[in-house]
Amino acid sequence: MTSWDQRATQVLDALRLDSIKNRILTLAVLATLIPALSTAVLSYRQNRRALTDTLDSELRSVVSQTAREIDLWVDRRSYDARVFTGSFEVTENLDRIPQGGAVGSVAQGRLTDYLVNVLGRSADYAGFLTTDREARTMASAGEVEVSLDALPVDWLQRVERGEAVISEPYVDPQLSETVATLAVPIEAGPLSFVGSLAATLTFSAVDGILEDFSPEGAGRVALVTSGGQVIAGSGGADGATVDAAILQVLASAQGGAAEYTDSDGVEMVGALAAIPGLTWSVVAQRPTAEAYAQVIQLRNSAFLLVSIILVVVGAIAYLLGVVIVRPLARLTAGAGAVAAGDLSVDLPAAGRGEVGYLTQVFNDMVERLRQSRTELAERNEELERLSVTDLLTGLHNRRFLLDAFDKEISRADRHERPFCVLMVDVDRFKHYNDTYGHPAGDEVLRRMGVVLKDATRDLDVTARYGGEEFICLLPECDLENAVLAGERIRTRLAQETFEGGAVTISVGVAEFPTHGDSPAAVIAEADVALYEAKGAGRDQVKSAPPKAKGDAKVKATKRTESAKKKRSSSKKGDSAAPAAKKQPAAKTGAKKSAKGASK
Ligand code: GH3
Ligand code: MG
Ligand code: MG
Repeated sequence: MTSWDQRATQVLDALRLDSIKNRILTLAVLATLIPALSTAVLSYRQNRRALTDTLDSELRSVVSQTAREIDLWVDRRSYDARVFTGSFEVTENLDRIPQGGAVGSVAQGRLTDYLVNVLGRSADYAGFLTTDREARTMASAGEVEVSLDALPVDWLQRVERGEAVISEPYVDPQLSETVATLAVPIEAGPLSFVGSLAATLTFSAVDGILEDFSPEGAGRVALVTSGGQVIAGSGGADGATVDAAILQVLASAQGGAAEYTDSDGVEMVGALAAIPGLTWSVVAQRPTAEAYAQVIQLRNSAFLLVSIILVVVGAIAYLLGVVIVRPLARLTAGAGAVAAGDLSVDLPAAGRGEVGYLTQVFNDMVERLRQSRTELAERNEELERLSVTDLLTGLHNRRFLLDAFDKEISRADRHERPFCVLMVDVDRFKHYNDTYGHPAGDEVLRRMGVVLKDATRDLDVTARYGGEEFICLLPECDLENAVLAGERIRTRLAQETFEGGAVTISVGVAEFPTHGDSPAAVIAEADVALYEAKGAGRDQVKSAPPKAKGDAKVKATKRTESAKKKRSSSKKGDSAAPAAKKQPAAKTGAKKSAKGASK
């Protein structure tokens, strides 16, 4: 693996992303989350910026229009006041009122009447007061006392110069509402200052103007003093104030929108416009949550949508992971079973993709392994068969015979039943070979195999013991019947015609356990009997000399553990050979005498 591969694997393992299912899930979630979230954030920002611009121009227009309107309203009020002062009733009567403002004079009465009359027609004033040149009260009208003290200290000089002077607003104790004092000069003619008219100006009409210009929804617009005192406002002033810090923030936005938190802790967006010639300003504001409700709703919808998409994509990715991983898990389990030697595994098809191909290949591979195993088993079986078969005759070989012998002895021991052994030898076979050739001899041996098979039972074991010697093991068979079996074989062979005419055999018979308690002993006894048959002229069956009944029984019961041990140790080697060698005198003697007799 390359170094970056290793590093990537380490990172994935550290993040516990070592399973395919988790990797697919993570990939799908990231692939959805990153574009969806960045699109949502970008569009939210863009929408918010657009809305901020809209809000900015909306609030800017509200405050500038309102400020213009308030400016006009104030101008109209001072103009009204000047119109009132221009009346002949004012100048004439003011002049006639004796110095010191004699109460009850006719002139004062008439001036007061005039003021009452005018006040009755003007909704914006709560009281009027006229002064002489020295600002001494000459006459007044209205339910409230006009406060000259509220006016700036230099008011008289400014009024004398022809200006209209307006005081800072204040709460009138009698009206319990915010009012201001307005003072205008009273002039008898051009540049002829005779006194002043002061009026208590109420702002209830301004509330109406502000109401008209109020921004949408929960937005408010208010007229405030430089100190933050609310003079009038849409929805009422109620003696409210605006924090100096907020005024500062709004003023620095120069008519544009600014965001701040109001004294109640509510997020607001607002704007401020100063009224020309006055220290008052118009402030408009809206709760941010309401102003941005649209984008906030958009943002929430976007997040909801992203969440839904995420859940759907996550679910699909999870299912996809399961679909991919399940056949892989089956493959892993299958491979484990095959590794453990179970070749019966056959995985269900897994579609057409890579995993499907892999599953197909796996199944093919297991099928081949199955075939190979079957072939191997057959070959092993064949090898095993061949290892205990004599190739020329097709009979069992000596190795198989000795194994069968051991088994038969165990069985006979268990059931206490005898079994017999026939030792068959072809007569004068050397001569036959010498006369008709070795292949002809081989043919005789081959036919001997067939004859032995034909003339014995299925449960009998027929084996080629060596050269032209054969041994038949006859389970569950006594000596008498064994001799009959030998005769049967001999007769059956006599019916066969060979290249060299008839071929005869000699047969020696011995019984287990009567004639021996081991394979070697029984075979040796059969061998002795065979050579007796040879000696007696060949082509005959001879059994080992019958033992006395008691003898046999004694022999059978006396077969002690030591005899069994002897047998079991003789199993390991060629048990018959050394046993046969135990009686060389008898055998050679018998053979020699037989040969001698035949000659
Ligand atoms: P007897 O009647 O006394 O048994 O005489 P015999 O000639 O059969 O005696 P012997 O046992 O000495 O001879 C056995 C002969 O069998 C010797 C050998 O040439 C022959 N022989 C052994 N194995 C084979 C074989 O596989 N094929 C052939 N054709 N001949 C074999
Ligand atoms: Mg022989
Ligand atoms: Mg022979």
